[in-house]
Amino acid sequence: MIDEKHLVDLFLRLASLDAPSLGERQVAAAVTTELTALGLTVAEDDAASRLGGTTGNLLCRVPANWAIEHVPDVDKPAGWDEKARQAPLLLSTHLDTVQPCLDKKVHLGSDRIFRSDGTTILGADDLAGVSAVLALLHELRTRGKPHRPLELLFTVAEEVHLQGISAFDARTLSAREGYVLDTSGSPGTGIIAAPGHLHLNFVVQGRPAHAGIAPETGINAIEVAARGIARMRLGRVDPETTANIGRIAGGSETNIVAASCTVTAECRSLDQQRLSAQARDMIDCMEQAAAESGASVTVQTRQSYHPYRVDPDLPVVRRFQAACAAIGKAARLIATGGGSDLNVLSQAGLSGMVLSCGMQQVHSEAEYLALDDLSDLVRLLLALVAEPV
Ligand SMILES: [Zn+2]
Repeated sequence: MIDEKHLVDLFLRLASLDAPSLGERQVAAAVTTELTALGLTVAEDDAASRLGGTTGNLLCRVPANWAIEHVPDVDKPAGWDEKARQAPLLLSTHLDTVQPCLDKKVHLGSDRIFRSDGTTILGADDLAGVSAVLALLHELRTRGKPHRPLELLFTVAEEVHLQGISAFDARTLSAREGYVLDTSGSPGTGIIAAPGHLHLNFVVQGRPAHAGIAPETGINAIEVAARGIARMRLGRVDPETTANIGRIAGGSETNIVAASCTVTAECRSLDQQRLSAQARDMIDCMEQAAAESGASVTVQTRQSYHPYRVDPDLPVVRRFQAACAAIGKAARLIATGGGSDLNVLSQAGLSGMVLSCGMQQVHSEAEYLALDDLSDLVRLLLALVAEPV
């Protein structure tokens, strides 16, 4: 059985702290205190100064069998020596939460569900993952269970375009496999594919003119941008690719032919080639519209992160399936449309999955988390770190 009281206290304590992106100092300090109280060492990187935040990414290494090694005069349980030979496993979570997240009033209802008071988010994204990792250590230590070496990563600024993990030097990790604890739904679901993300910024330059006296001497940049957008394939472009116009802004007064117009857009795809092709197609549409009208267009593109896809036969997936079976859950493998820290980590060579943490209706004031799901997540982690694979 999971120490439920400890888990509830832990989650309520962390979720009541302020942790806006780039302002995670309170929750980072609480996590560091928790880990150092267990005799572990926490290293903080230089992401705070690089990103202008209040804290860096935290990395904590847990040696194999740490939970039994610290207990004197305890007989070593079966399997402990084999664990010492296993490669380290990464468990990664993020410390920041989306707005509105200041001064949260978080409680556990009689229905065993954590909620905020409705004026802020709950912060289960991703403090459910953070609490589960800390609770895992508590359980390992209490039970004196053998386990493989672990690397625990707590990133900052995940919610603002994965800035924290992007500033992290993944070469400092020894683990080649890992789990990012950061998606909605009950534990038992794991993500094995996620799209890459590309951001586009178009600036269409037309020619201003008096809209009533000499409209034919002007080139309306808004109209050009609209023609360009109308040519684009948007929405769900194919089963693996999506595209969206996020914002359009330009012009000034109704009596002036609009001189310039800015359009921001994005595309995503599970396939890097399709992602590049979709971006190229959107750029071509805008450039053709500009050329036909005598306008000019400048385009800036930025690939926020790359796609990844994990082979279901890999150990990292099979271990997850075995751990689910060990706690009586059916493992579900899915693809997602969103990005996470794993997009960056997998680019650095990590073989991994993103796991469901019990959080529901995230990024809204209706966000909630069932205590039973949080307990299941801790049980799942216990099984993962004990698996023979
Ligand atoms: Zn998250």
